Amino acid sequence: MRIISISNHKGGTGKTTTTLNLGKALALQGKKVLVIDLDPQANLSQSLGIENPEHSIYQTLVEKQPLPLVSISERFDLVPSELNLTTAEIDLQGGIVGISRLKNALRKVSYDFVLIDCPPSLGILTLSALLASTHILIPVEAHFLSTKGLVTIMERVEELQEGMNPHLELLGLVMTKTENTKLSQDTTEVIADVFKQKLFKTTIRKNVSLAEAPAKGTDIFSYAPKSYGAIDYAHLAEEILAYYGKTV
Ligand code: ADP
Ligand code: MG
Repeated sequence: MRIISISNHKGGTGKTTTTLNLGKALALQGKKVLVIDLDPQANLSQSLGIENPEHSIYQTLVEKQPLPLVSISERFDLVPSELNLTTAEIDLQGGIVGISRLKNALRKVSYDFVLIDCPPSLGILTLSALLASTHILIPVEAHFLSTKGLVTIMERVEELQEGMNPHLELLGLVMTKTENTKLSQDTTEVIADVFKQKLFKTTIRKNVSLAEAPAKGTDIFSYAPKSYGAIDYAHLAEEILAYYGKTV
């Protein structure tokens, strides 16, 4: 089971959009996929039309309940979030056991891929995701300002690799909201220079359909199957499956 944290402590870089549409793309390509909404904003849950769920990740993190699985479509399940998760962040500060609860709960489910939509911080929720994960995928907005924080997140990954999660591997970085502008291309070049083969060849182009689909409570493949967004996320899924050698 590949467990991938989709993480970047900066907001608006495309974490939720990537979790949803990469997850769905992998499901359409025959994989069994679980997406977990770990963000107290619950954007991923809302994007899939799930508001005020009866059970959420909160009960898993705070009350040690099993993961509440909601079936969205074929081979595609969601663990929803709720606004209470803000309290969980506080409740979990208490002890070291708290941050292992997601990891422990994941031992009891079986999927080809689990994608975790992390909140835009490096707090305890993100830490519990990274502790549970085999890989981290970082969406990077094609804008110079957004590249600065990458150093911080890479330091955090190295700390985890040396300590609590030696198995954590950088799956890669993916450029999001790319445009045909010099700024967008320059940013991509800078990242490519630093991260070399860890930068995915697929870039996610800026595409209004990707921003519209959540309001319809669905993914890009259902909303606009011929859009750039659908094409790009399908390519990203193919690139990731190729990386794993199609052995999953
Ligand atoms: P994060 O979860 O990192 O905060 P989101 O995935 O919510 O980021 O994206 C932030 C905003 O940008 C959302 O309104 C989303 O719909 C929009 N967005 C994300 N990716 C794209 C894209 N490739 N093209 C256009 N809009 C996008
Ligand atoms: Mg988000």
